[in-house]
Amino acid sequence: MSLSNSCPGARTIREPTPEYIDCPHCGREIEVWSDEPLTRCPHCRGLVLQSRGASCLDWCPHAAECVGLEKLQRLRRAGSDG
Ligand SMILES: [Zn+2]
Repeated sequence: MSLSNSCPGARTIREPTPEYIDCPHCGREIEVWSDEPLTRCPHCRGLVLQSRGASCLDWCPHAAECVGLEKLQRLRRAGSDG
């Protein structure tokens, strides 16, 4: 019994980690969490969309069970409209 078989794409959602990126609007460093595809820059209030490749959550039939339906819907909504 172990959790090591969870897919890597879901891992960043289930176990969010902070990342530091440069705001595309003002150039200052901001903290973004791996489970937050859309972040508002605290400096310039601009919306920052994390660029991420195609995720297994987009096509995996078990995605809802994997990260939770609520979170999955939030992620999909953030990716489809702004
Ligand atoms: Zn900014």
